[in-house]
Amino acid sequence: MPMFNPDMETIDRTKLREIQLKRLRETVHRVYKNVPFYRKKFDEVGVRPEDIKSLEDITKLPFTVKNDLRDNYPFGMAAIPLEDAIELHASSGTTGSPITVVYNRHDIEDVWAEIMARCLSMAGLTKKDVFQNPIPYGLFTGAFGFHYGAQKVGALVVPSGGGQSERQLKLMKDYGTTFMSGVASYAVHLGTVAEKMGMDPKKDLKVRKGIFGAEAFSEGLKKRLAEQWDMEVYDIYGLTEMSGPGVSTDCEYHDGLHIWEDHFIVEIVDPKTGEQRGPEEEGELVLTTITKEGVPIIRYRTHDLTHLYDSTSCDCGRTHARMAPVKARTDDMFIIRGTNIFPSQIEWVLMRNPKVGGNYQIILTTDGDMDQLNVVVESKQKLSEEESAALEKELTSQIKAVLTLTPRVKVVGPGEIPKEGIKAKRVIDKRKK
Ligand SMILES: [Zn+2]
Repeated sequence: MPMFNPDMETIDRTKLREIQLKRLRETVHRVYKNVPFYRKKFDEVGVRPEDIKSLEDITKLPFTVKNDLRDNYPFGMAAIPLEDAIELHASSGTTGSPITVVYNRHDIEDVWAEIMARCLSMAGLTKKDVFQNPIPYGLFTGAFGFHYGAQKVGALVVPSGGGQSERQLKLMKDYGTTFMSGVASYAVHLGTVAEKMGMDPKKDLKVRKGIFGAEAFSEGLKKRLAEQWDMEVYDIYGLTEMSGPGVSTDCEYHDGLHIWEDHFIVEIVDPKTGEQRGPEEEGELVLTTITKEGVPIIRYRTHDLTHLYDSTSCDCGRTHARMAPVKARTDDMFIIRGTNIFPSQIEWVLMRNPKVGGNYQIILTTDGDMDQLNVVVESKQKLSEEESAALEKELTSQIKAVLTLTPRVKVVGPGEIPKEGIKAKRVIDKRKK
């Protein structure tokens, strides 16, 4: 598979570390000089920019958390004058102020478009592809990141935007879309709509590659998508605070996601103590931007649980570190009757079952004094009452085997769970507090 930037993607790791140190030091100087929030934080822990003499010294720097960005809303984290910014993005503001970031021209062209072009090329995008981008264009980073990256590769971008599934499918057919982006659960939904319209995505559409992010998706969902579309599925990771999508993607060997270490310094820490953990040890992903100028971020606590691979050599030839696909977010986890549960554990069970459709919800309720775990799931085909009851029984015992907790499973027909927006709302907590 051709690389977008082979010199950098296969760089010798000693050289890579030299670049990282130089860029880390520049970033630390930049934020100390230009962002009062960081100057205050560094002063509080008694660290000066000149104290960063090696990459290991990064642990002397304080963490940044989501609330720091909220508290400094809208532009308090910016390290450039606003007149030098050319674009703004913000993430959802369902709780408190939205996380807002600004980009200068360098951030858009040399950082974001560059890392996205590398990710998309890694997933096989070439200038011959017709790239459909079924993501809402707006304040969120998703659509623009894919758009800039795919243009940089030279593909033909179809900016179809969010929603309107039947229209998306018509565009795919008419324009001969070969490559799609977006959110995995939405792609499964699109496939289901296509089937309802009497189309077989495998035969009637040319989409053979897809790159999906914005939500953790299980191996089961990946497999489901691959079969439904006859598509090679790639996983992309990113977040608004780090530019947007583009931090990492899996290569054709699908064994971990390569992180662009010339743009980000990656650490794994113990979510409770903040102590660094070694390769192969699971913990919270912490990222530092070392090239972004608009809103550089030091040691950002992502709340995403993963681990780094010990080996830095991959059959694809890239030397950049690999992370495991994000297993769960520490803040997605819920506790029910004293058990820690990640929605991905339930998804894993559901998606392995061929009778299960693409959509499900986990609803937590209180029944008397007891917390109750309810799982509502769509069947793939319309089922009779007896068939639904049998499937409910089967899924109940399979979920119980994984969680050691008995859920209440309800099977509903295809398309019966309402979809709001592009990201599926998976967990609804209705418990009495
Ligand atoms: Zn690789």
